[in-house]
Amino acid sequence: MINLIRIRPRSLTDRTGACGASNRSSTLLEGTTMNFSTPIEEIPKVGPQYQKKLKKLGIKNVKDLLFHFPHRYEDFSNFVPISKARLGETISVKGKILSIENTRTWKKRMNLTQAIVEDGSGAIKVIWFNQPFLTNTLKNGTLVSLSGKVALGKKETYLSSPIYEKISPADFNRESFQEINGNLTHTGRLVPVYPETEGLSSRWLRYIIRPFLVQLSDPSLDEKEKNKISEPLPEKIIKKHQLMPIEQALWQIHFPDSMKSAKKARERFSFESLITIQLTVLREKLRLAKEKAIKIPLNLDLIKEFLKKLPFKLTDSQKKSSWQILKDMEKERPMNRLLEGDVGSGKTVVAAMAGLSAAKAGYQAVLMAPTEILAKQHFKTFKGLVKNFNLKIGLLTGETKTKGKADILIGTHALIQEGVKFQKLALVILDEQHRFGVEQRAKLCQNSSTIPHLLSMTATPIPRTMALTIYGDLDLSLLDELPKGRKKIITSVVPPEKRKAAYGFIRKQVKEGRQVFVICPRIESATKTSSEKKRKDFFGWAEVKAVKEEHEKLSKIIFPDLKIGQLHGKMKPDEKEKIMKNFKNKKIDLLVSTSVVEVGIDVPNATVMMIEGAERFGLSQLHQFRGRVGRSEYQSFCFLFTSSSAKKTHQRLKALISSENGFALAEKDLEIRGPGEILGKSQWGVPDLAMDSLKDVFLLEKTKKTAKELLEEDPELKKYPLLREKLKNFRQKVHLE
Ligand code: ADP
Ligand code: MG
Repeated sequence: MINLIRIRPRSLTDRTGACGASNRSSTLLEGTTMNFSTPIEEIPKVGPQYQKKLKKLGIKNVKDLLFHFPHRYEDFSNFVPISKARLGETISVKGKILSIENTRTWKKRMNLTQAIVEDGSGAIKVIWFNQPFLTNTLKNGTLVSLSGKVALGKKETYLSSPIYEKISPADFNRESFQEINGNLTHTGRLVPVYPETEGLSSRWLRYIIRPFLVQLSDPSLDEKEKNKISEPLPEKIIKKHQLMPIEQALWQIHFPDSMKSAKKARERFSFESLITIQLTVLREKLRLAKEKAIKIPLNLDLIKEFLKKLPFKLTDSQKKSSWQILKDMEKERPMNRLLEGDVGSGKTVVAAMAGLSAAKAGYQAVLMAPTEILAKQHFKTFKGLVKNFNLKIGLLTGETKTKGKADILIGTHALIQEGVKFQKLALVILDEQHRFGVEQRAKLCQNSSTIPHLLSMTATPIPRTMALTIYGDLDLSLLDELPKGRKKIITSVVPPEKRKAAYGFIRKQVKEGRQVFVICPRIESATKTSSEKKRKDFFGWAEVKAVKEEHEKLSKIIFPDLKIGQLHGKMKPDEKEKIMKNFKNKKIDLLVSTSVVEVGIDVPNATVMMIEGAERFGLSQLHQFRGRVGRSEYQSFCFLFTSSSAKKTHQRLKALISSENGFALAEKDLEIRGPGEILGKSQWGVPDLAMDSLKDVFLLEKTKKTAKELLEEDPELKKYPLLREKLKNFRQKVHLE
């Protein structure tokens, strides 16, 4: 199955050779015409099982496949004549199989496949363990390239379980190793290793990806037939920054000639990703600058009265942020502001002040929340906060709709879906949705001569360099302190032998009337199939706790006397809603849940947050979980359980114990786990590579400057249609519109 691809990437002169392969593309793609948008279902050798696995990785078509990049390379480029094989070295050799047979060792009950391979300089023994099926492919006389480590047996040295691939007689006869490694896929070169997903091996991905690369650079195919990749970056930018052109970079990121050129390829794609983000953000900013908003005069008396009725004093950062917001709203230029503050830092009051100002000036405000529950929670809070101001607060979600015109309307996405139009909308507040484009804002207004001011709130602490990039079009207000008088949440890592004691503690808390969260990394145990179970047993992998099993265990064995509920993302919205409601109303003592509780639910009576498999979550995420408790006068606790003994895990968990500052933890996360973990990939749809490059301050600056220059020269990017197309796709992906 390996000997399908014989075309060399760069010199394509003698690629047909004596091996009898098609003189057009590779065998895998023979007779097919595919382009980048061809869905994976139409790729030969990609059956339903593989389709499912590829889709799990977000790979839907040929293009996605080619842009699925390896995260590292195995260095098999040390090609030597067999006579030069030295003990302990990782080497590659090419040769002819003189003999091959399966044997069985009775003592260890292992299958051995033993072969002798010869190359003219000498012969070497090769042993594979427990792969008896190899003899179906590899036979006497087969020409192979092998990469592996030279080990010492009882009598002689041997090549231990090498990676293999068949080679053509032409390659076998070639003098120089350099000449053949361009033809190799799995051995004898820098070999790409892709991020692991169960059931999708790097070997399989290489086998599938490579023919498309070959096709890409095959001059014998005419333009219509082949996967044409056009360079989206302007030529002068490529030149100026010495970026690798796209076609070459695609080859080099998958099958690099050297580590240096793999790095150059990666740099090119990072540059492309970042400049896409920079251009998107900058254009949004320019677009906004052309719009007008309703001026809302700052009414100090109103604000003073509001503050007087609050049961608490604002923190300094709440004061500062409110001031920034109210000052922005006075201007004719539309506000575009992000209010960033940890869970519990008190964003709602600040938002309420903005809403109150708009409403009391005679205009309308809208608040959009990500879920029904949160919308209702906000509705209640807002009603309470402005109850003395004679305002009408409305609620609009999928299922609820208050009647009449509202001064402040609170809702979910239903607000947009139902095409609600406002006559006097002056302010839009977003909770945890981050993005709302200019056009989207304009659409809400009936009167299209202005667009509303925008205040976006998030509890996701984002390190500064990242925020400046991805939120570069937004001004930033920070709530970087918690209100005074909050009790510190006691956080600790609970070792396995203290699990019982922790359960005892939880029981006591519940008996005192408190409630408890238990977070598990998964919904269902993944070890359902026997092969997975075998593998698990073999490697001694720890069980990853799953909601369903934990729910069963806790309700039947550990706490049969308590009311236990469960919550996860696969439940229907109304089911989820009901569970949350029951938890809020104390009909449930202990809620077992996946990370779905992360966003926002407020249950002040909950005092214990118990997190299973804590090593599986990012620091920021753990911090968000922790923020679900400690919302009342009761002392709260966060118990972390982990079966990982890795040093890194304990370092991270220690950081969580010693810090209560979301921003500091986010910086740490960035350092340890990379940006993807902080933003949440699914939410952003930003490619991994772009995520990684968000750490690269130098590249950030460079791309920012380049984006600025490009837009100054050509604001609509008319000269660069491909780049414009790319931006359009990106905008759709990250939900800017
Ligand atoms: P978040 O930023 O997570 O949205 P909330 O706005 O829900 O936080 O506030 C959390 C809790 O803190 C609420 O019960 C709120 O009334 C209270 N709160 C907000 N500001 C203050 C303050 N300055 N002092 C004391 N309590 C406050
Ligand atoms: Mg909130």
